[in-house]
Amino acid sequence: MTEWSNWAGTASAVPARWVRAVCAEDISVAVRRAASAGLTVRALGSGHSFTAVAACDGGVALDLSGYTGIVSADVGTGLVTVRSGTTIRALNVALDGLGLAMANLGDIDAQTIAGALATGTHGTGAGLGGLATQAVAFELVLADGSLVSCSASVRPELFAAARVGLGAVGVVGTVTLQCVPAFSLVADERPMPLEQVLESIDDLAAANDHFEFYWFPYGRQALVKRNNRVAGPAADVPPAMPGWRRWWEFSVLENTAFGAACRAGRAVPAMIAPLNRLSAAVLAVRRYTAPSHAVFVTPRRVRFVESEYAVPRASLLDVLAALRAAVPRLAHPVMFPVEVRVAAADDIWLSTASGRETAYVAVHQYAGLPYQEYFDAFESIAASVGGRPHWGKMHSLDAAALRPLYPRFDDFGRVRADVDPDGRFVNAYLSRVFGC
Ligand SMILES: Cc1cc2nc3c(=O)[nH]c(=O)nc-3n(C[C@H](O)[C@H](O)[C@H](O)COP(=O)(O)OP(=O)(O)OC[C@H]3O[C@@H](n4cnc5c(N)ncnc54)[C@H](O)[C@@H]3O)c2cc1C
Repeated sequence: MTEWSNWAGTASAVPARWVRAVCAEDISVAVRRAASAGLTVRALGSGHSFTAVAACDGGVALDLSGYTGIVSADVGTGLVTVRSGTTIRALNVALDGLGLAMANLGDIDAQTIAGALATGTHGTGAGLGGLATQAVAFELVLADGSLVSCSASVRPELFAAARVGLGAVGVVGTVTLQCVPAFSLVADERPMPLEQVLESIDDLAAANDHFEFYWFPYGRQALVKRNNRVAGPAADVPPAMPGWRRWWEFSVLENTAFGAACRAGRAVPAMIAPLNRLSAAVLAVRRYTAPSHAVFVTPRRVRFVESEYAVPRASLLDVLAALRAAVPRLAHPVMFPVEVRVAAADDIWLSTASGRETAYVAVHQYAGLPYQEYFDAFESIAASVGGRPHWGKMHSLDAAALRPLYPRFDDFGRVRADVDPDGRFVNAYLSRVFGC
């Protein structure tokens, strides 16, 4: 049987069978047949989770890559219903054609919409939530094969669980998104001394629609990204970036050249810290205007592993101070930058920003370099402030550790057990994080 593995190469599985579904009825039939055969079912996204959340060892791997596209769109209200296997890349193109857009996005577009929602995928913006805050209704195939709808007013508890559901409450057939009129962003990216960024972090987060920064652990400079909505047609904005410059900067410098530096560091680890400082030193100013999704999303061709924790905004400086102290003590040096983002509090049961103003701190390591000591050190720093791990990024927490972090954790477990009493949608990762 063909093996399944994820983008980062950190999870693999051998399913008992692969089933391709191209309509909701196919999904229902696949779930019913799996039940008759006593098999579990896992809906597959694009495999961009670093955790084994999508792994389907010994069960049915449900391929939804043929179940794509927009079902309906109301340009007036911005409500768009989309099939679950649609990639964010395809969705952005389709929304563009309708004069609509997602209000906020993460930094790649390879994920499927259902996969991104399932793990609480987010972008940045102190006044904005993650992607799941933009989902207003789902059509789900439950463990008994029935097709049901849910929203804030129809089966509200099922909806509350499905918004960030880890594929545990059912297979998403379609999702209805609250989109916004298409908008452009002015991107301003520039190096700043890390100390200055840390001193003014609250002002930077408050003054910009989408603020984030990258920090190379052995450098003194941070790369600060400020993306702001273009106020109106008359606004004084920088021009679009010429195609050749986009190619040079995003493709050559950020992927080809950085990839070569990573390979050199992997071959000669003593070069990692100097290469890291060099990467920080060559950061340049970049200002341009582009449609929102072209600013949010950048190509990521250099493979890496990642762990990310959502920490209370008020704890961010303490977390970064502890991380800065920990990195030089690691036995194995770190090649990739740390990324810091922000998000508003939301009301979603298993959202990592549930009920609190949040900062996201993500640590990365180049594929093939040792990362466990680094990620463990980061995990214990995050744990000291009640950090919540991204469901799709590497962590070692189990249900006992996660329960105190989420006030509605047991409500999620109750709804999950109600709709899936036999554990049709459970895999080893879900078993660990939910104790089911
Ligand atoms: C290079 C890279 C960049 C990233 N950038 C960001 C970022 O900026 N912000 C961020 O928050 N995360 C980011 N991530 C993480 C990524 O967004 C999430 O892990 C996301 O879940 C991946 O989506 P996917 O389609 O690949 O889903 P998969 O990883 O394939 O699956 C994730 C989960 O979704 C479930 N699922 C998929 N389809 C369905 C369905 N139809 N019904 C029910 N469940 C379903 C799967 O069963 C699984 O549980 C990044 C990952 C990578 C590799």
